[in-house]
Amino acid sequence: MEELLCSEIKRFIATHPGNRLPDSDDPYLEEPLVGFSSAGDPIFQDYRRIIGPFHLLPEELLPHAATVISWILPISRSVRESNRSQTELPSREWALTRTYGETVNGDLRRHITAWLGEKGHAAVAPQYSPLWKEFGDTPVGIASSWSERHAAYAAGLGTFSLSDGFITPRGIAHRCGSVITALALTPAVRTSASHLSNCLHYHDGSCGVCISRCPVGAISRDGHSKDKCRELVYGTAPAALSERYGTPQTGCGLCQTRVPCEAQVPLHKR
Ligand code: SF4
Ligand code: SF4
Repeated sequence: MEELLCSEIKRFIATHPGNRLPDSDDPYLEEPLVGFSSAGDPIFQDYRRIIGPFHLLPEELLPHAATVISWILPISRSVRESNRSQTELPSREWALTRTYGETVNGDLRRHITAWLGEKGHAAVAPQYSPLWKEFGDTPVGIASSWSERHAAYAAGLGTFSLSDGFITPRGIAHRCGSVITALALTPAVRTSASHLSNCLHYHDGSCGVCISRCPVGAISRDGHSKDKCRELVYGTAPAALSERYGTPQTGCGLCQTRVPCEAQVPLHKR
C-alpha cells in the first residue's frame, strides 16, 4: 500500500492539468517526495512543547489515526531559475507557483483524502479540518494548529534551516502537505543527525548565503524574523506585484533560490 500511495501522489502531480506554467510545458511542481510517520510518534507530543500547546495531535484531528502521510513538492527548475536573478521581490513565475502551485497542492490533499476514503480508510487533511486555526501572537510568532513542515520532519523528509525553511533531498524550494489516515503504514526512520543538520550554518558555521538574499534583513546568524518576513510576503510584495502578475499571493522565496540548499542538501553537494 505504501508504494501504491507514493505512485498515486506522483501520478496526480505529473498529470494535474493545472500544474503548468502559462504558455509553457514546464510544471510548477516536480516529482514529489513522500514519507510516512506514525500518528502515535511521541514527536507530535514534543511539538506541543516546541511550537505551542495549540498544535494538534494526529488523533485529535482524526479519531483512530494511525499514519501521517507527508509530501514535498519540489518547485521546478524553471521557476527557481526565474527567481535567482531577483533581488527585491519575487519573479512572476514564483508568484504564480505560490498561488496556482499551492492550488495543485490543495487539490492533492483533497484527492488523497478521497482516494483513501474510497478504499475504506478514514482520512483528513489537517489544513482543511474545521479544527485548523492560525495564531498570530505565540512565543514562536505566527503559527498554526498543524505545521506541514513539522509533519514532514516527522516523516524523515528533511530538516529545518537558518531561514526557517525545510531542507529536503530536493532542496528548500518546495510546497509541502500532509494527510492523516486511519490506515497503518510503515513509518520512515529518521536518519538526520539533528533537526537542523541539513543546513550548513548549523552543520559547520559556514554559508549564511540566505542572510544576504533577504531584501528586508529578516535572516541573521541568530535566525529568522517571521514578523519582518511577513511584512514583505504579505505586505509590500502583494501590494506592488499582485496586480502586475495577476496573482492574489506572490510569496517571496528569495532566500530559497541562488542559495546552496536551493535544490539539494548542500552537504551532499559538497
Ligand atoms: S543558504 Fe546556507 S545557511 Fe541559509 S538555509 Fe541554506 S544552507 Fe542554511
Ligand atoms: S521569504 Fe523573502 S522576506 Fe522572508 S526571509 Fe526569505 S527572503 Fe526574506
